[in-house]
Amino acid sequence: MSVSVSEKVSPSSVFAHIQEMGHEQVVFCHDAESGLRAIIAIHSTVLGPGLGGLRMYPYASEEEALRDVLRLSRGMTYKAAISGLDLGGAKAVIIGDPAKDKSEALLRWFGRYVESLNGRYITAEDVGTTTHDMEIVSRETDFVTGLPEAMGGGGDPSPITAYGVFLGMKAAVDVLHRHDSLNGKRVLVEGVGKVGSYLVQHLVQDGAHVLITDINEPRLQEIKQRYPSVEIVPLGEHYSADVDIYSPCALGAVLNDETIPQLKARIVAGAANNQLADEDRHGKMLLERGILYAPDFVINAGGLINVYTEWHGYDHDLAMARADKIYDTTYQILTRALDAKVPTHQMANAMAEERMRDVGRTNLMFL
Ligand code: NAD
Repeated sequence: MSVSVSEKVSPSSVFAHIQEMGHEQVVFCHDAESGLRAIIAIHSTVLGPGLGGLRMYPYASEEEALRDVLRLSRGMTYKAAISGLDLGGAKAVIIGDPAKDKSEALLRWFGRYVESLNGRYITAEDVGTTTHDMEIVSRETDFVTGLPEAMGGGGDPSPITAYGVFLGMKAAVDVLHRHDSLNGKRVLVEGVGKVGSYLVQHLVQDGAHVLITDINEPRLQEIKQRYPSVEIVPLGEHYSADVDIYSPCALGAVLNDETIPQLKARIVAGAANNQLADEDRHGKMLLERGILYAPDFVINAGGLINVYTEWHGYDHDLAMARADKIYDTTYQILTRALDAKVPTHQMANAMAEERMRDVGRTNLMFL
């Protein structure tokens, strides 16, 4: 998966841009009265229906919204494929401020557009939308996940995401040290929000020495009170902290020209999406510095696994069993990447493409 796509999308280059990104279908949805301006991007349905969340965000321009939905939907294809799911990749965005512009009519209009795709796209909650919003969308379409638990939904995906990140981290330790215990390892968790705090719990239970940092000071104190053994590190100083593992669980693009040279950690494994500021350049930089990077889209797939499980009738044990596979998948990616001396995210992309090609072929026989 190369990210070297043109930054600017002008109306005259929309088709060229879609083609370059390899999308199957992009649907523009509108309703003047409710103010709906949405884009559904289906990147691939080779392995199954395209599942991906609905993001509502006050994009500065339509171009920015299109660029975001194309990028995010393609990411979903790779995440689903490498996670061994029978799912393709898609995503939707609504242009607007979720605090001001959201209404029942707008969400129901969006639901009708989803229904019109007859299952090629399955929606879910994302940044700017909630399980309650999905309940409203579900009045217009069956192709919706991320519903409230009372409606058969899978609930908050953060615990499963954190569990997957923990397993991916253990697999990376296994590759480097030939055992997977985190006992005695120094782990820095950047961002102790929903995922980060559950991750801290796993790490403390496994005997790791945990360091935490966050922009939210009261949150840091709350975590410290819950787990007295954790150490708080000032923001900014944390990149060069003397640790074995750096776990970004806040923002994307944290692996960049400025931060990578500072890292003392030999492993990077965290939940944040799009950690590499520039996939190719910074992936190579990590390889050259001998830092083992557990690709974000592989180890943070617990949330996707949760909604995939919900789509077939939610079963918590089954979702956990599916998340268990993150360990083996990460182990395979990292060992194959080390053998081939290529960046780990590049190997993960190649393995996802391999599965799409090999398993996708089975659809050639009509049943
Ligand atoms: P969250 O908002 O609950 O937590 C994020 C935490 O990061 C907050 O405590 C916030 O104060 C802190 N933070 C924000 N900016 C920071 C900065 N500059 N430096 C340090 N800390 C900062 O979010 P979450 O649900 O825990 O998700 C964390 C990351 O994981 C996000 O990037 C998200 O996209 C990704 N992710 C989450 C899930 C999930 O199931 N929730 C699934 C896949 C990926």
